[in-house]
Amino acid sequence: MTISNKPKAISDLVKQHTQLHARTGPFTEELLRQPGKFGLGQVPAHLTPDSTTSSICGYCSTGCRLKVHLKDGQAVNLTPATNYPVNLGMACPKGWEALAVLDSPDRATTPLLEGRPVDWNTALDSFCDNFKSIQKQHGQESVAFISTGQITIEDFFLLGTFAKFGMGIKHGDGNTRQCMATAVTAYKQSFGFDAPPYTYADFEESDVLVFIGANPAIAHPIMWQRVMRNQRNPEIVVIDPRRTETAQVASRHVDLAPKSDLPLLYALAHCIIRDGRIDADSLARTEGFSEFKKFLKSYSPEAVSLKCGQTVAQIESLARLVSEPGKRVSWWWTMGINQSYEGTRTAQAIINLCLMTGNIGKPGTGPNSITGQCNAMGTRLYGNTSSLVGGHLFNKPEHREKVAKILNIDESRIPTEPGWAYDQIMDGIDRGDIKGLWIIATNPNHSWVAQKNFARLREKLDFLVVQDMYHNTETAKLADLVLPAAGWGEKDGTLINSERRLGVIRQVKQAPGQALTDYRIIQALADRWGDCEFVKQWPTPADAFQTIKKISAGQPSDITGIRDYDHLEQAGGIQWPCSKEQIADAESPLPSERRLFSDGNYYTPSGKAIFHFDHPSPLAEPTCEDYPFILLTGRGTSSQWHTQTRTAKSAILRKLYPQDCYIEINPDDANRLGIADRQTVTISSRRASIEALAYHAPTVKPGQLFIPMHYPDANKLTHASFDPHSRQPSYKYCAVQVG
Ligand code: SF4
Repeated sequence: MTISNKPKAISDLVKQHTQLHARTGPFTEELLRQPGKFGLGQVPAHLTPDSTTSSICGYCSTGCRLKVHLKDGQAVNLTPATNYPVNLGMACPKGWEALAVLDSPDRATTPLLEGRPVDWNTALDSFCDNFKSIQKQHGQESVAFISTGQITIEDFFLLGTFAKFGMGIKHGDGNTRQCMATAVTAYKQSFGFDAPPYTYADFEESDVLVFIGANPAIAHPIMWQRVMRNQRNPEIVVIDPRRTETAQVASRHVDLAPKSDLPLLYALAHCIIRDGRIDADSLARTEGFSEFKKFLKSYSPEAVSLKCGQTVAQIESLARLVSEPGKRVSWWWTMGINQSYEGTRTAQAIINLCLMTGNIGKPGTGPNSITGQCNAMGTRLYGNTSSLVGGHLFNKPEHREKVAKILNIDESRIPTEPGWAYDQIMDGIDRGDIKGLWIIATNPNHSWVAQKNFARLREKLDFLVVQDMYHNTETAKLADLVLPAAGWGEKDGTLINSERRLGVIRQVKQAPGQALTDYRIIQALADRWGDCEFVKQWPTPADAFQTIKKISAGQPSDITGIRDYDHLEQAGGIQWPCSKEQIADAESPLPSERRLFSDGNYYTPSGKAIFHFDHPSPLAEPTCEDYPFILLTGRGTSSQWHTQTRTAKSAILRKLYPQDCYIEINPDDANRLGIADRQTVTISSRRASIEALAYHAPTVKPGQLFIPMHYPDANKLTHASFDPHSRQPSYKYCAVQVG
């Protein structure tokens, strides 16, 4: 639908509330009285006009530090920092171009109401009046929010605090549900907390690195450079249906059949037990092994060989490789595992293998989920979505009491159970239970699985607010109200990378026009909403950080030992946990690279890790005569980021990848179907048909197609099925035809 034909009386509302100045609180007045400072765009106090500062990159979860060069207080250039333990002087193309995308003419520079520019006062009132009116008419729970892994910890903290405890929103989720929910759930169930155990030094300290459903050579190129620095002559195994860029340079490519990863992992466990290659010390720190052992009886290599497309000898050889006594084996996974209808159990099958073989808590080991977005870990801990802020539980009275006390709010404001996950919010819209939606820095009209659903559901919303850097994302185009947000480089705050390292991002440019930082937008909304005095406790992100520290006290992710942003910068980032006690212990200063579970103690009530397992589920959408191809999705190049909202704005990045949507097809299939290389073809699933260029690619097996996820059409095809434990969408497998 278009914005102009929305049958709402919004203009009336706007008129009605143009007398809003009477209702403008002093905080908002102060905010809006600062001409030219909407993005807080003056030279930050810590900088001289011509100097350098540093900032963690705002794209992927690697968390590279970039040195930003300023002239007259504004960033003019950047180079990768050489003195940071993450990237050691390297950056990928996205990082190098991080400043360029800020100057795009597509930036949202003013609030837009029904597509027309309005001032902030009008925008704030429109937000509050429409959402309040919806809540009054349909109940408190009829407004929801969807946030992101792309904003800072402080932004999440303020957003979740205001939305849940101020607006009374119960249902809010992050786009991290699309990428990391599986790993979160797997770790929580197995270890008692969402705790990726590794540090990047493990890339360099492994004897065997197994990448499963991961293509770091292009998806995490700087992590891949760390692998290339490994001096131990490691075996590099890639388990993936495609011969990806990483598989092409690995020492072993296990080209398993799509979605046969779970039986393959069980068969490896079966062989390891059968051959007596268990690590007894590690096993002593676990629960549930005897049940797992019984369960594995039916997963002999002979039983799974056909399904996995691997010979018995190949499976047995791999089992020996990953259980070699004395060898350090690390397992690394990303979306190939996470984005599956049985992702949680698959991730736990990896965890189980590490527990059985003692590959955890030691250098070069670990069941290691690599996260996606720059602050995926931050949103997991502080997003206030599936967990109460700080990794606490909504349904634990003592957690609610602790958080309420620190936030100075009445405990009754905190919901006693978590809200709905992303897909449940979408279902709620479909049923008419959710009527208002606030989307922050994400683009579901491109990225949501079986994408047409989102556009259809939008029709059922009475009011859609999109807060974004750009006014013309696929989702912003559908919004009733667009709130213009500052981006990376235009605000301060902290991010947490894949290895649990907190780092600082700095404001080095002024946001364009009237764009405000997400933090300021939320402050202004809270001020206008009313009855949210508690939000004023944190005038700046640095103030919020101090409260975040207090909330973390006593949690596995305790960061009470971090003093402030300067401490983080001087220390080269700091991994959690970092408690006051750890910092105070002068005898043993915290090393820069730390891993979890070296003491064999986990965060479960018993202190032991838990084996979880289930039999594989049937495919959600198997191939058939009409739809004979399996469609695989994934990252296309190092120069593209997710829905290309930012990367498409860089002329240099645009030159580094194909402009138009394409699929990769095995040459045998292409020749059989008479499809020439680079011919335009139609790909159809049960949900939609799209056109794309067909590239002949021997890296894709016959019967399979690969499509990069970055093009707007890709998710028109995908199938909406979900992992039952994490509720993560299964993007990686659906049935299509091509012609
Ligand atoms: S996108 Fe990721 S790998 Fe590239 S520079 Fe940024 S943090 Fe590093």
